[in-house]
Amino acid sequence: MKSGKCPKCSSADIYFYEETVGKIPGAIWVRGLTYVCFNCNYMERYLDLNEKIKNKLLQLNKNENRKLVFRADEA
Ligand SMILES: [Zn+2]
Repeated sequence: MKSGKCPKCSSADIYFYEETVGKIPGAIWVRGLTYVCFNCNYMERYLDLNEKIKNKLLQLNKNENRKLVFRADEA
């Protein structure tokens, strides 16, 4: 989608906008880029997760009784 082509319908009618996405687990505010296909309305969002934010999230995640994020390959 970042390359300007929709992965669902192959349209090149792609637009993007930047926004503060909101809180992710751990009450961390992040920004993101959202890509929208104006042909089929498919949307992709990329969060601006730098190493500092990722490390903070993984640190908070060490509480086994209150995990905040889950690995997709372990679900
Ligand atoms: Zn599309």
